[in-house]
Amino acid sequence: MQTLCSLRAPESANDERFDSLARLARRHFGVMAALVTTGAEDRQRVRTCDGLTFSNTARIGRFGDPWGCADAVLVVPDAHCDERFRDHDLVVSAPHVRFYAGYPLLALGGGVLGMLCLLHDQPRELDAAQQAVLKELAQLAANMLAREEADANLQWELDALRQSERRMALAIAGSGTGIWDRNVATGEIHYSTGWKAMLGYADNEVGNHIEESYTRVHPADLEYVKATIQAHFEQRTEAYEVEHRLRCRNGSYKWVCSRGKVVERDGAGQPLRMIGTTTDITAMRVMSEQVQQTAELMTNLTNEIPGMVFQYRRLPDGRSFFTYASAGSRDIYGLTPEQLAGSAEALQAIIHPDDLPLYLASLDASASGLTPWHLEYRVQLPARGTSWRQGDACPRRLEDGSVLWHGFITDVTERKQIEAELQVFATTDFLTQLSNRRHFMQQLEAELARVQRSAGHCATILMFDLDHFKAINDRWGHSVGDQALRHFAAILCTQLRKTDAAGRMGGEEFAVVLSDADIDEAMTFARRIQGELAEAPVLHGDERIPLATSVGIVAINPNDASAESALSRSDMALYRAKRGGRNRIECY
Ligand code: GH3
Ligand code: MG
Ligand code: MG
Repeated sequence: MQTLCSLRAPESANDERFDSLARLARRHFGVMAALVTTGAEDRQRVRTCDGLTFSNTARIGRFGDPWGCADAVLVVPDAHCDERFRDHDLVVSAPHVRFYAGYPLLALGGGVLGMLCLLHDQPRELDAAQQAVLKELAQLAANMLAREEADANLQWELDALRQSERRMALAIAGSGTGIWDRNVATGEIHYSTGWKAMLGYADNEVGNHIEESYTRVHPADLEYVKATIQAHFEQRTEAYEVEHRLRCRNGSYKWVCSRGKVVERDGAGQPLRMIGTTTDITAMRVMSEQVQQTAELMTNLTNEIPGMVFQYRRLPDGRSFFTYASAGSRDIYGLTPEQLAGSAEALQAIIHPDDLPLYLASLDASASGLTPWHLEYRVQLPARGTSWRQGDACPRRLEDGSVLWHGFITDVTERKQIEAELQVFATTDFLTQLSNRRHFMQQLEAELARVQRSAGHCATILMFDLDHFKAINDRWGHSVGDQALRHFAAILCTQLRKTDAAGRMGGEEFAVVLSDADIDEAMTFARRIQGELAEAPVLHGDERIPLATSVGIVAINPNDASAESALSRSDMALYRAKRGGRNRIECY
């Protein structure tokens, strides 16, 4: 570039050349003045003039006009005799031009760059030989002008190039990127100032040999960096690109991204020159490490907490799948997260068939109302049997109409077992395992509701009170009394149908409700119980302890205000049975 710049002739040097050309023309033709004009038609200005003084902005009007045939010499032997020039300023006043000859300065493409003109204050002729010389001189001037224009264009291009180079350098410096240029054959490497500054070095503080460069690469990265370069040298990769650490002047390391490409190879394909960039990516690296740590934390959290954390999506067309499932899916469903991600069908095969309709309906309800999903349901896992799961999730609607739930599933089998035990505990009589009074009353209420609901449905209550029970306690002891109570309860149970219910109402009092049974059927039932009792007395060692019961029977009336009121009528019947002598059955 330096050389190109010096090639460009300074304007003053060119001016001199034009001056001497004009001088040469004036002397050769022996005229008053010779001048070179530039520009076309009325934009012409005098570039140089020998013999007369024109300011260089002076316009010479029609004398400079290359009218007529462009490649013919225009000769005006006597301006006074030529009406085109007779009134021209230069003719009527000083310098009183009489003779004019001109030839255009033609560019290579044929365009007009200016004129070479001869002026004289006496009329004269210009013969063919002289015209030829004028043409040649004009051509010379044209070449000079063309060269001048080419130089100007080149200069303009150079300026533009320099400007774009400066912009590029600024951009590179601003992006935290440095440039290097490596001679592979000699091992020489040159770094840009920005490259050195990136690592905190001044321009003269970095050597220019590749071996020294390698000492700045973090030891843990060096082998990888060299292998990556080698792969590119051997043309196994399109370009060289590697992320590694570089030691800064202060001893700390920066993460950089090095990119490069071999730009010259010898005939055998061996690399000769490689150029590349080094970009500081420390900040990006720190950020990506943070993102990775956060992702790891999230994964650990979701994988370590008991149960399964999930994201579940239902598309508008009804297809649904787990978009995320934590590792707990193996415990919860016996499926890997990948198996769950495939489709929700694998899961439907695992949910207990009795609970599947509820499971699907609950998701439908959650999706349509965008209400939180909560469900307890059973799953059947191969080799693990039936267990309970609880699901909780919040839905939201996506732009495409999908519903996306975020939630978790937990194993609630143990809790459900405890709840079931508590339920038994709360509803059964500990000694006899029959319903306790409270639970029996609930069963009775349900039966009353059935009677009230469906005409023709009947039900009866039987109230039992063991006769002279106190005497058993008194004679054989309390535990034998307990044994007798269990014995009676067992006999009751053998006679009950699935739809009937029996309860211990307190002490030695028991109640039974027979569903779909009238008084006669209840009488039969009561007699059967009495018969069983008589046939199978309580055994205490060798002793047979006789046990008898009084029974009060009542039919449930659809008009009964409550189970309690129906029960009190059976009590009255029982009272009559007692009063009537015990071991008897009385109906209300
Ligand atoms: P009656 O023929 O009039 O019904 O006479 P009874 O002795 O059966 O009636 P009473 O109400 O006088 O006595 C009931 C007895 O039942 C009194 C009580 O000690 C006994 N009893 C109540 N609950 C239990 C129990 O859980 N175990 C035992 N062993 N005895 C009980
Ligand atoms: Mg009693
Ligand atoms: Mg009694």
